[in-house]
Amino acid sequence: MTLLITGMPGADLLTMLATGRDDTGAAIEPFEDEEGGWRLRCCLQDSRPGDRLAVIGYSPFAWSGPYRETGPVVVHVEGCPGHDGGFPVQFEERDQVIRAFGDDGGRVNTQVYDRNRLVRAGAGLATAIETVLADPRVREVHAHNVTSQCFSFAATTPEDSDR
Ligand SMILES: [Zn+2]
Repeated sequence: MTLLITGMPGADLLTMLATGRDDTGAAIEPFEDEEGGWRLRCCLQDSRPGDRLAVIGYSPFAWSGPYRETGPVVVHVEGCPGHDGGFPVQFEERDQVIRAFGDDGGRVNTQVYDRNRLVRAGAGLATAIETVLADPRVREVHAHNVTSQCFSFAATTPEDSDR
């Protein structure tokens, strides 16, 4: 199965930066990264010293409804190289919670609770996501950090993303 991985799409980031406000309505406050190692959601890479970043409130949901969450993520405010949709392999070494979202009449707005699970570092995150996406009830999977619960990325298959 081919996975299509999305963090925060570059076009959405540019639109948000142009407004100066994040998805919570808070002002975006850029800072210069001194140490590197922030887990960025724009390019799904880790930051490097000297990068210009911001912590923003972001909702990775393209729909409205009770499951639509907004939470903190860190992004580039300048010079993001973007992301090509490939699987970010560094997440294989990080504990993640994966949440399955269902296809409800063409709207991805319900959680398929029995498919939500914890995937420990080294336990095969990509394979676990593929297994969940193979369930016909599931259209999209979101990965989150375990302790902070920050959104990591969304995963679909190219076929599902066209529906
Ligand atoms: Zn970036």
